[in-house]
Amino acid sequence: MSADALTLLWQQVETGALVVDERRRIFDINPAAVRLIGSRNGSLVGKTLLEATLSYELVSLLSEAQSSGEEKIQEMRGIGEPGGRTLRVRIYPVRPDSPTLSPLSTVDPLPNETNLPDYSLVLLEDITELRRLETVRRDFVANVSHELRTPLASIRAMAETLQDGAVNDASVSERFVTIIVGEVERLTRILEDLLILSRAESQPPEKTEFSLSTLISDVTERFGAQAEKFTVALTNSTPEGLKVVANRDQTEQILINLLDNAIKYTSEGGRVEITGERTEEKVTIHITDTGIGIMSQDLPRVFERFYRVDKARSRQSGGTGLGLSIVKHIVEAHGGSVMVSSEYGRGSRFSFSLPTR
Ligand code: ADP
Repeated sequence: MSADALTLLWQQVETGALVVDERRRIFDINPAAVRLIGSRNGSLVGKTLLEATLSYELVSLLSEAQSSGEEKIQEMRGIGEPGGRTLRVRIYPVRPDSPTLSPLSTVDPLPNETNLPDYSLVLLEDITELRRLETVRRDFVANVSHELRTPLASIRAMAETLQDGAVNDASVSERFVTIIVGEVERLTRILEDLLILSRAESQPPEKTEFSLSTLISDVTERFGAQAEKFTVALTNSTPEGLKVVANRDQTEQILINLLDNAIKYTSEGGRVEITGERTEEKVTIHITDTGIGIMSQDLPRVFERFYRVDKARSRQSGGTGLGLSIVKHIVEAHGGSVMVSSEYGRGSRFSFSLPTR
């Protein structure tokens, strides 16, 4: 590789790289490493690794690498500027006669070529986001398992009781079978919501221009019977002619989830109203109910997966705890935003915006 190419690589690579001499002074450092460590007091070249990073852990790993002559890898936090970034540190001790020296020496030739000291190459890789995503995935799997276990345990208990003889008692068996069917429906709803979420996450939305006004009218009409059943007055007061550029099926899903919640969490005799407005860039839709409302401490969490303010009520009304997280994901994948405001005991307003082009 040419010296120019190597210099470019050294400058542009995302991995932080430092060359440290045998006295642990920084001999060379690339811009990525400066960004990761932070240069509080000017240039880091010439400083000791401890002065530059304030990390005894890193210096101790370097000592181990230097004394053993072996490569060392370790995950560390708290190197350089505070902020809790997680770094994967790799240290390669290099002997001057080692073949790996030659490419490096073209980047910045070591002084005194005839009597080169041993040095080490320290590589810093920012894995904060990777670790965060791993935690999110672990929590999600744990939550899903928990959500599936509850109905499964109930189905099993009922089925075993039937097996143990309850099947011969007509009234008991009828009750148990009804519960089993209810739990199976619950499992099906959870799986359907998980599939919707996973489909939405797996690819960016395929967008077309369509009439949001027509879609809102259709969905509102379909919810007519459900609103009537709960004696909730459902009205659509959105202006005519609203158009958006979005995925139609996913937009329908947003409306279904928000309307379903608005009706579900509103007591008999309440109202649910859909309103909206447009600017040149976006259409914003509000779904306002006169329902149970949400306490301010719960508001920031309602869009989290499986978060429910009142578990028993959500479960009773067939909730999965995934509806709002699906809404948030779809809206944000379209470049829009979701908002909620609520007054406990008086009602809530959920709003979302979608682009018009
Ligand atoms: P669920 O399936 O439980 O309805 P969601 O993700 O749709 O799950 O909503 C999360 C939680 O937010 C609900 O369990 C409920 O506590 C609260 N919530 C959502 N919409 C409303 C609303 N319109 N009024 C009051 N509470 C709501």
